[in-house]
Formats: sequence, structure tokens, C-alpha cells
Amino acid sequence: MVNRMSKQIYDVIVIGTGAGGGMAIKTLCEAGLKVCALNSGRAIDLEKDLRNHRMPWDLKYRGFGDPKLKLQSAGFVGDTEYVEDVWERELTYTTAPGTKWSWPRCSAVGGRTNFWGRSAERFGEIDFRAASLDQHDVDWPVRHEEIAPYYTRVEKMIGVASTIQNRPSNPDGVYLPAMNFRCFDRILEAGAKKIGVPYLPDRIAQLTVDHEGHPACHFCGDCTSGCEVGAFFSTPWFLLPKAQATGNLELRTNAIAKNILVDQRGQASGVAYIDRQNKQEREVFGRTVVIAASCLATTQIMLNSTSRHWPTGIANSSGQLGRNLCDHLYGTSASGYLPQLLGQPSFPDNVSDSSIAWMPRWQNLLNPHEETFVRGYSIYVDGGCWEFPDYYEQIEGFGSAFKRQMKRRYPTPVVFTSQIPSLPTKSNFVDIDPEAKSSNGIPKLRIHFKWGENELQMWEHAKKTSADLLRAAGGVVEDSSEGPETPGYSQHEIGTCRMGNDPKEFVTNRFGQTHDIKNVFICDGSVFVNGTDKAPTLSILAFSLRTSEFIVEQFRHRVFGS
Ligand SMILES: Cc1cc2nc3c(=O)[nH]c(=O)nc-3n(C[C@H](O)[C@H](O)[C@H](O)COP(=O)(O)OP(=O)(O)OC[C@H]3O[C@@H](n4cnc5c(N)ncnc54)[C@H](O)[C@@H]3O)c2cc1C
Ligand code: SF4
Repeated sequence: MVNRMSKQIYDVIVIGTGAGGGMAIKTLCEAGLKVCALNSGRAIDLEKDLRNHRMPWDLKYRGFGDPKLKLQSAGFVGDTEYVEDVWERELTYTTAPGTKWSWPRCSAVGGRTNFWGRSAERFGEIDFRAASLDQHDVDWPVRHEEIAPYYTRVEKMIGVASTIQNRPSNPDGVYLPAMNFRCFDRILEAGAKKIGVPYLPDRIAQLTVDHEGHPACHFCGDCTSGCEVGAFFSTPWFLLPKAQATGNLELRTNAIAKNILVDQRGQASGVAYIDRQNKQEREVFGRTVVIAASCLATTQIMLNSTSRHWPTGIANSSGQLGRNLCDHLYGTSASGYLPQLLGQPSFPDNVSDSSIAWMPRWQNLLNPHEETFVRGYSIYVDGGCWEFPDYYEQIEGFGSAFKRQMKRRYPTPVVFTSQIPSLPTKSNFVDIDPEAKSSNGIPKLRIHFKWGENELQMWEHAKKTSADLLRAAGGVVEDSSEGPETPGYSQHEIGTCRMGNDPKEFVTNRFGQTHDIKNVFICDGSVFVNGTDKAPTLSILAFSLRTSEFIVEQFRHRVFGS
């Protein structure tokens, strides 16, 4: 039975509080609009829940978590005792025969921004106009020039550390001082020079100096468990407090959006959601709806929003809802060690639990058809003295001799992780599984996905380049992954509600407003037209800021009533 909470009509209902939703909530509240935000999971208590400065021996289960709960875990590597009860345990999706997909979903307020890797590069003109250059698929309906001011504002808001690099594929932005290269970075940088590939500081949303009231990072190195001092960007540290301070936000936690409600004309009138705690269905009403539940969850909500007006899902007159799922192929393209560092003193090299150096796209820059594949990829590089010596399997023996070898090897390991965009294709898409529902009664999403020939060619290219670089730096190549990680592993899924100018071909217009329904907007990576060699979150923030300001402008012109 549906429980109608109240007849209040909000200006905007925002679904999701991650990168896309958090930016929308802040922007809309600060503009004076009354916002009701729905979040599928609980709120994070920034002081109590984030415990990354504790040592494993200070925790009851040595950081691994209660084994009974672990059995229920969907297997995401970040689902540990450090941050409990924030990753969804139930699988709310199925995969089509032949598809493997991993979809870790963080239900906590702030979504995955609580634990993300912070790599924050701008997309470039070469990405927005990729189709014009290589004739594959379609261009974006926006240019870098148009989105650049939003990138700049986001970079200033969240603080991104990097350097000016003047490269054609990755536009420079406004940066805090970069993180210092470590000893092994300098050696690899020299190797990269020898083989003619770039080796540069990544753009990282982690504060190297105090910024906008947030403290500089003290490089404890465990960011993937969340930062208890707020020294990297997440929406609970950076955006939601600002929204809350306006008095215009009502945040409903444990509220799992099920479908968008429509009025007699098929326009959005609110959202139906399940209260996670008592499984009751509730409704909330608004003049506009912003869907920002992350690419796949947004698409699931829209596909599940069927009515006589929208029989195949809301705002789906184009039939494109769910189409063109893209992901980053991730994999260890090489790993090994630098013998010149054997036996050297140990330094705290694990400054961020993530990479601080990257090799931005260098392929197909002068000519879009230089290589056998189109477009390009990037590589993140890491190594040095990590907390856990992953190379233990490479060393033989036992006892004190084994320990001596382990210690001698400690400063030397190097790992290359490739970030390779899949091309949009008709065979990679999502729909609703007609047979399967999750425990709260919501029909499950079904994923159809396979890596294509283009990305697999890039993977082979990345393996060769990574090994060449390591050898050129005087290193020893020991291994590479047998194949790419399972699709979904990168958590960079995009593209199932693409933006474009033609309502027959695209779900939203260039502002993230659905072509079919003027009061429904999308603020996450599902509107992206194609993947790039860059990580998506900075772009999700910039596009969400732009869409949110567009909504504010529409309210000023009384498009949605007052
Ligand atoms: C370990 C890790 C490392 C990463 N590294 C990087 C990186 O280096 N660079 C980068 O760019 N990206 C990285 N990412 C990905 C990045 O976190 C995501 O791109 C980004 O968070 C996406 O933002 P979003 O708002 O679309 O989704 P999310 O951050 O996932 O937020 C979605 C929100 O929607 C809510 N929600 C979902 N379904 C519903 C529903 N039905 N009803 C109500 N609420 C709902 C969730 O609770 C959540 O709050 C990483 C992610 C992880 C986990
Ligand atoms: S390394 Fe810096 S940003 Fe990461 S958890 Fe520690 S203090 Fe926070």
C-alpha cells in the first residue's frame, strides 16, 4: 500500500547524493529552490564512520569485517570493517548469457565519492569531437570551450592538484601544487622519455595545501576507506553541508527510488520510493525531478517508470534509453620491479592508496588513424613502499632469509594499470529483466556487455608499452594480468541516456533535460556520449553544475510554475 507522506510539493526532487546529485543539490539549494533529496542508504557520520587512521589490530576483525556479514557481501574490495554497511549486499541486477559485470553500489550518502580514487582530468575537444575525427559514432552536442568554465569552477571548488602540461588530449585546468614524484617515479619518468611516451603528475582531487576551509592531506595513504579529515573531495565533506546551511534541503535517507510518477499529461509529478527500513512504498511530489542515482541506477529507475504515456520507460520515445553502455577496460598491463632500488631505505610512498602519476593518451593524436585502433587510452603507474608487499609470491624461501628478501625488495615494485575506453556499440546495453525482482520488489536491471575489438587491441598495445617502459627504465618485467578485469570493475560506467540534439536519437538535450519531458533532468555519467582516456567524475560534476544552473534559470523564467 502506498503511503502518501505529505502533500508538500518541492521545487526539485533529486535522486542520489553522489557526485552528480551532490552538485545538483548544492547548486539548487543555494539558488533558493526547495529540494527534497532521496538517497538509497544511510547517512555517513564523518567522525564515527570513517576510521581509516586505525590500524588493523585495533579493529575487532582486523579490518576484514564480521565473517558472517562478509558472506553476504557482493564482493566489492572496499566492503571492509573500516566502513561498514555502506556497500549494497544484494545483487539488484542480472547479466545476459555471455556477460560478466561487476556493479558495486555504494548506498551511503555521498555515494562512491566517499571512497573514489580522486583522479580528476578534464575531457578535451578531441573527446567531444571524436566522431568527426575518426568517423565512428557521433560527436557530443557540446564543445570543450563551452564546458571549460564549469570545469574551472569545479576545480576551484573541490581542489585538484596537478601541473600545467600543455598536451593536446588533456586540457589544463586550475591546480593546487602537484604531489611530489617519488624515487621510482623519477626513474620511470626517465624510461618514458627514452621510449617517447608521457609520464606526468595526474590531476588529483586531494588537497596538497589547505583549501576552502578543508585541511591539506597528511598522506596517511588509506583514502579508499574514506578520509576522516576531509582532505579529498567527497560530497558529504564539500557540498552537502553547504546545501544544508541554506535551510532549503530535506534529505530522506534509506529511500530507494523505484519509479518517476507522472501526471495526466505524462509530465513528472514526483517519485515513488521504498523505505528501506520498513519496505513500505511512499511518494514525494515535485515540480521537477533530477535523476542522479549513477549511470546504471538512473537507467533502471527510468526503465521501471512505465505508464500509459511511457510504455517502454519514461522519456524513451527515442528507444535509446539503456543503449550504448560504455565502460573503462581496466587491467594490470605490466608489473615488476626496479633492481636499482633494491635494499634502499623505505619511504612512505603509499601517499594516496591510488596513483599520483599517469601517462595520458599519446596515441592517435597527430592523425586519428596512426594506430590499428581508434581513439586512445591512458595508464596509471604506481609502486614503491606500499603497506602490503604484494610481491610476496615472487620471492622464494621462508624464515629470516625470506624476510630479508622481502625488506630488500620493499622500495622496488612497480604496477601499470591501463584505463581503456570501450566504444559505444549496439550490443552493449541494459534492459529490465522480465523475470527477476529484488527483495524490495523492484524489477532488476539486466546487463548485456562484452569488450569489443578496439578496446582489446588497445589492451595489447598497453601491455607492450608498459613492459617497454619498465625495461627502458632498467626494471624487470615480471607479470601482467592474463586478461582485463571484469567489466564494471573500473566503476566508470557511462552512456545509457546519451545527450544529443536529435530527440529521435538521444534521451536528453545538451543540458541533460530529457527531450520528451521538460521537467526531468539527468545529472550523472549516463548522459555522456562516449568514454575517453580520462576518469569521469570531474566531468560528472561539471555537467551537473551546468544542468543545475540551467534548471535555476528555467525557474527564474517561471517555466515550472512558482
Ligand atoms: C574505489 C573507487 C575508485 C574510484 N576512482 C575514481 C577516480 O579516480 N576518478 C573518477 O573519476 N572516478 C572514480 N571512481 C568512480 C566515481 O566514484 C564515480 O564516477 C562517481 O562517484 C559517480 O558519481 P554519481 O553521482 O554518478 O554516482 P555515485 O557516486 O555512485 O552516487 C549515486 C548515489 O545515488 C544513490 N542511489 C542509487 N540508486 C538509488 C535509488 N534507486 N534511489 C535513491 N538513491 C539511489 C546512491 O545511494 C548514491 O548516493 C571510483 C569509484 C570507486 C568506488
Ligand atoms: S592520504 Fe590524505 S586524503 Fe587520503 S585519507 Fe589520508 S589524509 Fe585523507
